[in-house]
Amino acid sequence: MKLKRSLLFLAVFSMLFALLANTSNAAGFWNIEFYSDFSPTWGSVIKIDGEELIKPLEVQYWHECEIGKSEICFGDYYKLLPKNASPNRFIVPDTIVLHTDDQSGNTPKTWFTKTTYNGLSGGKLSVHFAVGLDGIGQFLAMYPEGVMQCRGAGWACNCHSIQIEMAGRTYNYMFNGKASPEMEESIKIITDQTLELVVALMITYDIPIENVIGHYQVKYSGKTDPGDVWLQEYFLPLLQERLDELEN
Ligand SMILES: [Zn+2]
Repeated sequence: MKLKRSLLFLAVFSMLFALLANTSNAAGFWNIEFYSDFSPTWGSVIKIDGEELIKPLEVQYWHECEIGKSEICFGDYYKLLPKNASPNRFIVPDTIVLHTDDQSGNTPKTWFTKTTYNGLSGGKLSVHFAVGLDGIGQFLAMYPEGVMQCRGAGWACNCHSIQIEMAGRTYNYMFNGKASPEMEESIKIITDQTLELVVALMITYDIPIENVIGHYQVKYSGKTDPGDVWLQEYFLPLLQERLDELEN
């Protein structure tokens, strides 16, 4: 009985050894050492027979904020919020949360990011981006590997998400006849810019579309922004379309 078991062990061991010896002789493949899991936009750094190679990027969705600095920038300008607006903590994001910043529905022609910035800096709150008729502003430091944490939707959500404040309020008005033509125009412009930003962030940080959510979906938030109909029936289908285009 004992002998039988030893023989079986020997047979399995020799088979495994033969298999390993064979694969290690096989061409190059097993000598490739992946030691970086940067997002595809950063490019994969690989080591082949001791030589470092960087796979070139096809498309890069961000730019250096300043030459020689490690922060990366998305959008049109970079203006950090005061230090007390964020907990100064580095996180790896897996979720994107969309908000609206509650600027007056009576003045949709002045839905600007400057107002968002001023509102946040006074209240010790923060988000990573504001999107308005004047473009996209970035308010916190971000890196290819992760981002600084914001204070936008409660700790449990903040510690793993990127948050975007869109200028304006009640984007659902676009679908219930309550939006003026000016408001509709502003919502469309801001939606288009947000769409491009979200695509860039999803690709850079490898975030799936299921994790693109509205503030109203954050547990215990008690919020309704940016509007469930706007998100589910307008923004997410547009986003899916855009992703499909990029894949083809
Ligand atoms: Zn919100």
